[in-house]
Amino acid sequence: MKLLRHPISLPCLVDVLMLALLAATVFSLLQPQHVPSSLSTGLPWLMLTAIAVLTVTRIYLASQLRAITHILAQAEAAQHTAEEAVKTKARFLATMSHEIRTPMNGVIGMTRLLMNTPMSKKQSEFVESIHLSGEHLLTVINDVLDFSKIEAGKLDLKREPFDLRACIEDIISLLHAKALEKNLELAYTVGPSIPLFIEGDQVRLRQILTNLVGNAIKFTDRGEITIFVLPRRHKGDEYELEFQINDTGPGIPANRLESIFEQFSRADDKLVRQREGTGLGLAISRHLIEMMHGNIWVQSTVGVGSRFHFTIRTRKAKGQLKPCLQNNIPAITGKRILIVENNPASCQSLHDACKGWGALADVVHTSADAISRMAIGKSYDVVLVETNLPGDTPLTLARYIRSRYSKQELPLILIAPPNDRHPKIVVRELYNQYLTKPVTRSRLFDSLMTALGDTSLVMPKPAKSSLKLGEWLPLRILLAEDNPINQMVATAILEEMAYTTTVVENGVQALEALRTQPYDVIFMDMQMPEMDGLEATRRIRAEFPAEHQPVIIAMTANALEGDKQECLDAGMNDYISKPVLPEAVEATLQRWCLPKEKQQEEPDHATAIH
Ligand code: ADP
Repeated sequence: MKLLRHPISLPCLVDVLMLALLAATVFSLLQPQHVPSSLSTGLPWLMLTAIAVLTVTRIYLASQLRAITHILAQAEAAQHTAEEAVKTKARFLATMSHEIRTPMNGVIGMTRLLMNTPMSKKQSEFVESIHLSGEHLLTVINDVLDFSKIEAGKLDLKREPFDLRACIEDIISLLHAKALEKNLELAYTVGPSIPLFIEGDQVRLRQILTNLVGNAIKFTDRGEITIFVLPRRHKGDEYELEFQINDTGPGIPANRLESIFEQFSRADDKLVRQREGTGLGLAISRHLIEMMHGNIWVQSTVGVGSRFHFTIRTRKAKGQLKPCLQNNIPAITGKRILIVENNPASCQSLHDACKGWGALADVVHTSADAISRMAIGKSYDVVLVETNLPGDTPLTLARYIRSRYSKQELPLILIAPPNDRHPKIVVRELYNQYLTKPVTRSRLFDSLMTALGDTSLVMPKPAKSSLKLGEWLPLRILLAEDNPINQMVATAILEEMAYTTTVVENGVQALEALRTQPYDVIFMDMQMPEMDGLEATRRIRAEFPAEHQPVIIAMTANALEGDKQECLDAGMNDYISKPVLPEAVEATLQRWCLPKEKQQEEPDHATAIH
C-alpha cells in the first residue's frame, strides 16, 4: 500500500512511458530518414495509438490511486481513533481501579477490624457477609482490569525459570481451606518425565490454575478435585504440557461446553447466582493460555463432573531444587514405606512422592489390609496412615503397631483433615508425626525425614511466639496517607501488631517529619495532594544520609501493571496494593526489617508429636 504513495507510483511510470513515446513519435516525424522505410508510414500512427491507450490507462490509474489514498486516509484515521479509544479506556480503567480500591480498602479493612471486636452471633454474621461481598467485589475489579489489559494487548508474559511442582503446591496451600470447608479431597500428580524447572510466567500460570481449581471447588459439593500434569510431546528441551483439573461437581450441559469460555458467560445462571462469579475467569484463562501457545477445552457429564484440560508450550529450564523435590534422597532411598490411604488421588501422590525419593512404597486401602501385610512378616521403616479409612479408624492399626514396635522401631505418621477429632493424648501416645491435609511434598518430606531420624535437610520451623511483631521487632513507623479512613485502617492494622504510627497527610509533611526524627519504615501512598509519594521518595533518597534512610513501602490503590515498577524506580523498597491485608504488612515488615539470618524461607505447617 505504501508503494502507491511513493513519488514513483504507477501513474508516474505511465507518464514517463508516454513522454518517451511522444518523443519517439516527434522524432520519427521530423527525422524520417532515421526510421526504416518499412515502418516510416505505420510507426507514428502506432505510437499515437499507444499514447492514447496510455493516456486512458493513466487517467484510470490516477483515479484508482486517489480512491485508494482516500481509503488509506480513512483507515488511518479509524486506527488513530481506535488507538485513542483504547488509551482512553485504559486511562478510564486505571482511574476507576484507583477510585474503587480506595474506598474498598476502607470497607474491607474496617470490616476486618470489626470482626476482631466482641459481637453477637447475628452481628458477626452480618459483618462476615459484608466482608465476603467486599472480597467478591475486589475479584470483579481485578478480573475486569485483567480482561481490559488483554483486550488492549497490554499484557505481556514473562519468561523465567520456575519450579512447576512448587507452583502447584502453592495453589493447593492457598485453596485447601476452601476445599476443606466442603470436605473435598484435593490432590495433584505431575508426570515424572516432566522437567522440574520450566520456563514461563509463573504468576499467570498460577492465575489460570487458581481459576480452574477455584471453580472446581466452588461448583463441587462432595467428592474430590484432582490436578494432573502430563507431557503431551517434547523435542529436545521444548515441551508441550497438558494440565487436567477434574471435579465431581454438577457438570456442564453439552450445549454450553463452548460458550463458557466467552466473557460473561455462565453455564447455569441459577447455580452461578448462588455461588458468585464474574463470568470472566475462563475467558481470561483462555486468553492467557493462547498467549502460552496452548488450548483449553472441557469434557463434562451433567451429574457426574467436569474435566478441564489446557495445554501450554514451555522449555526445560535450570534451577536449584528444594530437597523435597529432588529424587533419590540418600536417607530415604531403599526404605520401606507402607501407605494406608483410601482416596485414589491421594494414594497416587503419596506413592509418587515416596518413590521419587527412592523409597519402596506399598499402598493398601484399609487398616485390616495393613495388619495382614505385617502379620505375614512384611516389615516397614515408616507407616503413613490416613484417618478417613473405610470401615474402621486408623486407631486399630496404630494400636496393633504399638503393641509390637516402639515409636523408634516403627514410626507412624497420621494424616488427618484439620478438623480431625482424634484426642490429642491418643495421638501423642501412638503416632510420631501428625500431618494435616492437604499434604504437600515439602511437609511430607520433612515428616518422613524426621521420622527416619535425619533432620539435616528439614526446613527449620519458625520459632513459635505468642509475641506480636512489634513486641520483638520494634520499629519507628511513619504513614503518609491523605485519606482519613485509610489512615484509620493502616494505623489499626499496625496497632494490632503492637506498633504506634505517626501519620502525615502528604509528601511535604513526610519530609518534614523525617527531618525532625529518623524513621525505620515509611508506608507511602502514591497519590497525595501537594507532593505525591513518588516525588517524596525521590527527595528522601536524595536528601538523607545512608544511616537515616528508611525502608519505604508503597501502600497504594494504584494496582495496575507498571505501578509497582514506578514505585521501585522512584527508590521505594517494596509495594503493597490496597485493600491492605494485615498478613501482607507483616510479611513486608519482616522481609525488610528483620536481619537476614532470622528470616524464614518457608513456614512449615507440620506438627511434630513428641
Ligand atoms: P465465574 O466467575 O462465573 O465462575 P468463569 O468464567 O470462571 O466465571 O466460569 C464460567 C461459567 O462456567 C461458570 O459460571 C459456570 O457456569 C461454568 N463452570 C466453570 N467451571 C465449572 C465447573 N468446574 N463445574 C461446573 N460449571 C463450571
